[in-house]
Amino acid sequence: MISFLSLKDITAKYADEIHEAVSRVVDSGWYLQGKENEAFEQHYAEYIGTKHCIGCANGLDALIWIYRAYIELGVMQPGDEVIVSANTYIASILAITENGLKAVLVEPNPDTLELDDSKIEAAITPRTKSILLVHLYGRCAYTEKIGEICERYHLHLVEDNAQAHGCTYQGRKTGSLGEAAGHSFYPGKNLGALGDGGAVTTDNTTLADCIRALANYGSTKKYVFKYCGRNSRLDEMQAAVLDVKLRHLDEDNRLRQQVAAFYYDNINNPLITLPKRLPDENNVYHLFPILCERRDELQQYLKENGVQTLIHYPIPPHLQECYAGMWQGVQLPITERLAKQELSLPISQVMTKEECEIVVRLVSRPSKSLNNLKLCKKS
Ligand SMILES: *Cc1c(COP(=O)(O)O)cnc(C)c1O
Repeated sequence: MISFLSLKDITAKYADEIHEAVSRVVDSGWYLQGKENEAFEQHYAEYIGTKHCIGCANGLDALIWIYRAYIELGVMQPGDEVIVSANTYIASILAITENGLKAVLVEPNPDTLELDDSKIEAAITPRTKSILLVHLYGRCAYTEKIGEICERYHLHLVEDNAQAHGCTYQGRKTGSLGEAAGHSFYPGKNLGALGDGGAVTTDNTTLADCIRALANYGSTKKYVFKYCGRNSRLDEMQAAVLDVKLRHLDEDNRLRQQVAAFYYDNINNPLITLPKRLPDENNVYHLFPILCERRDELQQYLKENGVQTLIHYPIPPHLQECYAGMWQGVQLPITERLAKQELSLPISQVMTKEECEIVVRLVSRPSKSLNNLKLCKKS
């Protein structure tokens, strides 16, 4: 069985260093807001290329805190509009709506699966204040045009970098391209903790100070509360583990890129479409999405032949029950089609060449046998 992602193997790769880091925290007697957070925040800010990094409880909170800080600082008002890609994970949208802001959904480009920059301007109104740019699947979503639009319309560019740690645009890391970025260290992400974790990166010191307070009860110093915040801290254990894994992130991303290159070079099937290929530095392949009209049959076929795949994501946010009635009359045919056709193949830094070959062989069967998918038996 080729599993979609083996977290066990991913952790085992650096087991010695991780055990050493965990023991250090256990023995230190200091479990929150200590040296480990300080070290990781400094190293991650250096890695991304921003002045500040603020650790917090998870990626959703990181994004929530960015918009909450804009509101606290009077930069944005509840009811303001944020443009975001319609085919993102629900957390991107929740971060907007949690703050009483309005998420304006814009279709992705079907060739890249990222926000379609030619459709942004039509969605701008006098209340548009920000673009939340999601680097979905590990691929850089930033374009020169998006930068120009933000400048021309005075929009605050926020990045959702939950899936793209280490990805770059013209030598600069995603997470440093806008005013602030939210990062998730959910275990399955490219840089994953052994539990929940997240961070905000930014060059803006006022914003950073506000976010640091918000994630710690709104406290600016002990027992002094400037904001009604929450408890949303990164703990010392996770910070210590993340600091270890950060040292290996580039090497792990390179291994993911090798798997992706092998897929791009060898998958050959008229019924399957691959997203347009980018130079490696612009894609750290958090996921490897493919498109297939007969996606469900393909997934079943792969499963029967020992390959686990996932769908990212089967129901787009605007069709979720939690948002019933929110975007009435909004037509998102591309997003809805992608939700029906997307399938994510296994990809990770611990996949073997042999496993990659099996995946390629199975998805590259001549179209004749794919046409008879249901008849295919284990070979
Ligand atoms: C994982 C993810 C998040 C949220 O991160 P958590 O740490 O799980 O809260 C936000 N946005 C995107 C695009 C994600 O994939």
